[in-house]
Amino acid sequence: MRRRRFEIEGIVQGVGFRPFVFSLARRYALAGWVLNDARGVSIEAQGDEEALGAFARALQREHPPLAVITGFHVEEIAPQEEGEFSILASRDETRRSAQIAPDTWVCPECLAELFDPADRRYRYPFINCTNCGPRYSIVTAVPYDRPSTTMVDFPLCAACLAEYEDPVSRRFHAQPNACVECGPRLSLRDAEGALLPCDDPVMAAVALLRDGKIVAIKGLGGYHLAVDARSGEGVAELRRRKVRDEKPFALMSFDLDDVARYARFDETEARLLSGAERPIVLLRQREEHPLSPLVAPRNRYFGVMLPYTPLHYLLLKDSFTALVMTSGNHSDEPIAFEDGDAQERLGGIADAFLTHDRRIHIRTDDSIARTMSGRPLLLRRSRGYVPRGVLLPRSQPCVLAVGGELKNTVCLTRDDRAYLSHHVGDLKNPETFSSFCRTVDHLRAILDLTPEIVAHDLHPDYDSSRYAEAFPNARKVAVQHHHAHLASCLAEHGTEEDAIGVIFDGIGYGADGRIWGGEFLVGDLTGYRRAGHLAYAAMPGGDAATKEPWRMALSYIYQVYGRDYPALPFLEEIEASAVRIVLQMIEKGFNSPMTSSCGRLFDAVAALCALRTTVSYEGQAALELEMILDPKETGSYRCDLRRDQHGWIVDPSPLIRGAVEDLLEGAPAAVVSARFHRALAQIVAAMCRRLRDEGAPGRVVLSGGVFQNLFLTESASALLRADRFEVLTHSLVPPNDGGLSLGQAAVAARA
Ligand code: ZN
Ligand code: ZN
Ligand code: FE
Repeated sequence: MRRRRFEIEGIVQGVGFRPFVFSLARRYALAGWVLNDARGVSIEAQGDEEALGAFARALQREHPPLAVITGFHVEEIAPQEEGEFSILASRDETRRSAQIAPDTWVCPECLAELFDPADRRYRYPFINCTNCGPRYSIVTAVPYDRPSTTMVDFPLCAACLAEYEDPVSRRFHAQPNACVECGPRLSLRDAEGALLPCDDPVMAAVALLRDGKIVAIKGLGGYHLAVDARSGEGVAELRRRKVRDEKPFALMSFDLDDVARYARFDETEARLLSGAERPIVLLRQREEHPLSPLVAPRNRYFGVMLPYTPLHYLLLKDSFTALVMTSGNHSDEPIAFEDGDAQERLGGIADAFLTHDRRIHIRTDDSIARTMSGRPLLLRRSRGYVPRGVLLPRSQPCVLAVGGELKNTVCLTRDDRAYLSHHVGDLKNPETFSSFCRTVDHLRAILDLTPEIVAHDLHPDYDSSRYAEAFPNARKVAVQHHHAHLASCLAEHGTEEDAIGVIFDGIGYGADGRIWGGEFLVGDLTGYRRAGHLAYAAMPGGDAATKEPWRMALSYIYQVYGRDYPALPFLEEIEASAVRIVLQMIEKGFNSPMTSSCGRLFDAVAALCALRTTVSYEGQAALELEMILDPKETGSYRCDLRRDQHGWIVDPSPLIRGAVEDLLEGAPAAVVSARFHRALAQIVAAMCRRLRDEGAPGRVVLSGGVFQNLFLTESASALLRADRFEVLTHSLVPPNDGGLSLGQAAVAARA
């Protein structure tokens, strides 16, 4: 007879771990106990050698679907007089390191019950169990227990309480457990918020949607605006009411069969769609499909997700091929999640509200992913993934990293884990900034952490940097934007080695006070040097050039040709007086900061091709340039490489000249786009080879928002690998500014 003590860390609370341990102990006829403590789950088990060994293997191999084991320690202890196995009361200690699970899908068992007329939760829109349902968005404090969630508003009925207290029930200690007797309820309201009396709010909402109406639907992390994706008028009306917004709308379908009617997907994409995280996945559109062309104008992809709440399943079953499910907000504002606020802000957009009385404690947008080279690539890491930790190369002091300005996320570290927050958004918006502050507080509360170091961007005027500066009792570390991108990718790969960082993005504050964004860095988590960069170009009007890509096109052709630049078709779209003013700005250097941004070079080429002279959201021109690319075109353009006293300069003048000549000869934009993409991939490979020849490491990191671009990332990776480089790209952390906070945290801990 032997006795062993198991300490299990990770996401092991509120996910059915104790009942799972209990059933295993029964299977192997072991005595002992299991309990939740501040670090995770503790077990003592007693039996013969063989049974204990099988028990330990099963613990790790069979654990419940939502559980993530990050630490597993076993210790031999003295056997005791004990006949059975029991679940003991939780132990609360001072140092808390148990982790909260992300919000997840509806598990297959709950889904079966949802549609089983004999089940007591038949068609109950808030069905869940320890294997599924809301977590992160409803928890208000730790330890994770019903009183520390927004479910505190709903005392359990006798039937639910019995499940909650039964160790063999799937709902044993399922904190959001509820039923129609005791749990949250749906209601349907009109645009003014008045209750619309009806027997079945779901079916009433379905009827409205079938009619082409727009319905605001309260989900897990906030409100969606829904409309039937087949309704041309409905989708057009939603675009009109959301104002000027051209961003593609996300779609939701009941299952993969419905998705297959309008989009193509492979096995990796199907797995990503069907996983418990349920991100929006970018899928190729079918040439012929039944959806409104206004769902995703000028795009070859649809953003698609499968249902992740019981309510979504009820709405979609036998009703729609796809619903548009776009964030409940006006352009640029954060997603609405509080009922009063949603009513106020969405009242002018939605015809009706399908809402409920379970409070959302923290807003979380949908995550967005695509697949790249057979692996998932998260473009926005939010609902479903947060607050799962990212494993760091080693334990480090507790750092709060506050991220950048756009696509903001924050990050907290504890030991060897980094906890990235959900997507906060663009901090330029004052409402988003208050959401940012709330996010920091929430993450600190559920992780029970006080940071020793606060990391922020080098840019002194970012709201996040000011917030960091004012943070009490912590050391402040400023991290250069592109170094943070490099570090983010290194940290995601768990490496402390150095690398060449090819960091291409929109804009970031450079160490020389200029605007960087086409950078070749060499460094690691402790530091970097700028070994090369794209040649500087004037950005006439500063921020205005980001919104009006034609300004960048003019800037580049002026740089190459001077005042005698050729008359290209895109210039016909611009007023002559505006062209004159911008030329003067460039010549006099008035309000024309110099930038090495690769994103702005994309903008310039997109505008040269007359694809887009103005944009309604950041990165739009670059995205559309990628979308029209002709993959069969194999030509390319040249860039010059030269050295100054600091390092290498990549001069795109020959590239601009080549594109202009092609366009003057009537080449289609699809061809120019392909040649431009190939030129960039080739210059990346050529620069890395030179740097390696000069002694830089044979490892390359591709990061920054530009590397959301599938074609560029895959071509550059292929060229580099053919040249025996090791290539590191992102997967679970976004290459865009959503991943910055992780890099800041890794750098600041070593500063
Ligand atoms: Zn379930
Ligand atoms: Zn109940
Ligand atoms: Fe960036």
